[in-house]
Amino acid sequence: MDLCQINERVCKGCELCVKFCPQHALEMSEGRNSAGFHPAYLAHPDLCTGCALCAEMCPEAGIVVYRRQKARASQTQTG
Ligand code: SF4
Ligand code: SF4
Repeated sequence: MDLCQINERVCKGCELCVKFCPQHALEMSEGRNSAGFHPAYLAHPDLCTGCALCAEMCPEAGIVVYRRQKARASQTQTG
């Protein structure tokens, strides 16, 4: 499972997450969601470190990042 999960339905296409991702793991989709926006998506899951900066930046609270732990993954949602 990807560390970073973007809810494309609530995305408003502001591109903040794309600009602030230190790993350049996110890109804007060519397609549109039901609201007519181009949603962000995790284009390079192998680059994502689970830093959760994108989730902190998203004004729509549309991103959830799952941080890896030693034995199991725990969910961390910010914003
Ligand atoms: S969790 Fe961090 S590395 Fe992963 S997509 Fe978000 S900002 Fe980029
Ligand atoms: S910050 Fe949120 S609303 Fe803006 S493009 Fe990223 S997922 Fe969409």
